[in-house]
Amino acid sequence: MTSVDVDVVGELRSVLADGVVVSDRDVVDAYRGDRAETVQAGWPIALVRATSTADVQAAMRVAAAHRIPVVPRGAGSGLAGGASAIDGCIVLSLERMLRLDIDPAGMYAVVGPGVINADVKLAAREHGLWYPPDPSSYTFCSIGGNLATNAGGLCCVKYGVTTDYVLALEVVLADGRAIRLGGRTIKDVAGYDLKRLFVGSEGTLGVITEATLRLRPLPPAACTMVATFDDIVAAGRAVSSIMAVMRPATLELMDRASVNAVENYRRMGLDTEAAATLIAQSDSGGAQSVEEIAAMERIAGEHGATFVATTDDPDEGEMFLEARRLAFASLFDLGTPLIEDVGVPIDRIAELVGGVERIAAEHDTLIATVGHAGDGNFHPFLSFDGNDPAAARRAEAAFGAVIALALELDGTITGEHGVGLVKAPYLVDQIGADVLEISRQIKAVLDPQNILNPGKFV
Ligand SMILES: Cc1cc2nc3c(=O)[nH]c(=O)nc-3n(C[C@H](O)[C@H](O)[C@H](O)COP(=O)(O)OP(=O)(O)OC[C@H]3O[C@@H](n4cnc5c(N)ncnc54)[C@H](O)[C@@H]3O)c2cc1C
Repeated sequence: MTSVDVDVVGELRSVLADGVVVSDRDVVDAYRGDRAETVQAGWPIALVRATSTADVQAAMRVAAAHRIPVVPRGAGSGLAGGASAIDGCIVLSLERMLRLDIDPAGMYAVVGPGVINADVKLAAREHGLWYPPDPSSYTFCSIGGNLATNAGGLCCVKYGVTTDYVLALEVVLADGRAIRLGGRTIKDVAGYDLKRLFVGSEGTLGVITEATLRLRPLPPAACTMVATFDDIVAAGRAVSSIMAVMRPATLELMDRASVNAVENYRRMGLDTEAAATLIAQSDSGGAQSVEEIAAMERIAGEHGATFVATTDDPDEGEMFLEARRLAFASLFDLGTPLIEDVGVPIDRIAELVGGVERIAAEHDTLIATVGHAGDGNFHPFLSFDGNDPAAARRAEAAFGAVIALALELDGTITGEHGVGLVKAPYLVDQIGADVLEISRQIKAVLDPQNILNPGKFV
C-alpha cells in the first residue's frame, strides 16, 4: 500500500461510520471478482460497504477528490467481469442498502440496490402482486446489479426485461451529487429518458442507490410443455414458429450437453439422449392456456419433436424450470467457463444454434447451449481445461467465432449479461465507431475524470 492509498483510506474512514470502510485483505478478497472466471480481478485499496445514499455520496466525493476509480458492486453474480476490481480502486458494495417497501395501491416497490431479486418477488406476492424480471440467478443477485445490467430472465419473452419495470431511480453521480429520475407515473415524457440511460450502464455512469419498481397482478398458475428433439436445428425452427404466432410465458432451450450436466449435478428426470429440449409455459389462464399449450405441442410435432409432454401442475412445471435454472451451476463444474450471451432475431434462431454446434466441432471445444430461446437470447457455455494453454486458445477462438456468427445473423454480442470486460473488445463490432464515440462522450459528461468503473463497457 502506498502512502497515497493510506491517505485515501484514512479520509474515507473520517467521513464514514465505523465498519463501513474495510481494508482487511481477507475480507476485501471476497469482493474483488464476479462470476466471470477468466477475468483477473485487481486489488482494491478499500472496500466501502455503504448503508445509505449519504455513504455513497461521501465515498464518491473522496474518490473524485483523488481520482480514485470506483467499482460499484451488487451481489457479484455478474458474468461479464463488470464488478471485477481494478488495482488501486475502491470497491463500493451496495449489499447493505436493503430498503424494501411495497405500495399495494400504487402497485410499486421502493427498493434499495442491495435487495435480492427473490426478496422483491416474495414481498410483492404477500400483496397478490408480482415483480416479473427473473434472471436464473434471482435467488442471489441484487436489484442494483439487475438494473445496472438490465437483466433478463425466463419470463422476459412475455413480460419484458428489467428496464420495463423501472418507474424511478435515485443515482449518485461521479462527483457525489444525488439525482432522481422518473417518478410514479406509468407514462412520462418530460425531458430525455435519462432513467433508461442509467439502466444497463454497468456502473459506468452513476451508482444506483434506490429504485421504484413497477409491480403487476400475479398471473394465473402456468401450464407447461416439454418437448424433445433429435436435432437442435429443428428445435430452433420450432421456437421461431411458436414465436410467430404467440407469446409464451417462458420458452427455454437446453441442448444435450447442458441436460447431461444438470442430470449429473442433480437428478431432474430430463431426457439425456435428446439433442435438444424445449421447456415452454403459458400463464394466460383457463381455456387460453389450454389453447396455447396445444398450439405449442402441435408446432413442436410439426418440427419433428420426438416426445412431447404437458402438465397443468404448477409444481411439476416449476421443477422443469428449476432444471433449466440449474444449468449454469452444473456447467461451472465441467471446467473453466467462458459464457456467451449472444442474441439473434427470432427468425434466425435455428441458424445460430446450428452454427454453434459447428463452431464447437471446428474448435474442438465443449459448448453446451442453453438459452431464453423465445427471446433469441442464447448462452453457449464454453468449457475448457484452464491448465491447458492450447485448449484455452481454442476456447477463445470459439468464443470469438460465436460472436461473429451472432453479428452475421444481425444479432447482438450480449442480450442480458452486459459488456463488462469480457465483451468490451467486441462492442465496436456491433455498434460501430461513431456510436462508440458518442457513448464515450456521454460518459465524459457524467464522469469527466473517468473514475466510475473505468475500462468496462466503453
Ligand atoms: C447461475 C447464474 C445464472 C444467471 N442467469 C441470468 C439470467 O437469466 N439473466 C440475466 O440477465 N443474468 C443472469 N446472470 C448474471 C447475473 O446474475 C446478472 O447480471 C445480475 O443482474 C447481476 O447482479 P449482481 O447483483 O450480482 O451484480 P454484480 O455482479 O455485483 O454487478 C454487475 C454490474 O452491475 C454494476 N452494479 C451493481 N450494482 C450497481 C449499482 N447499485 N449501481 C451501479 N452499478 C451497479 C457492477 O459494477 C457491474 O458492472 C446469471 C448469473 C449466474 C451466476
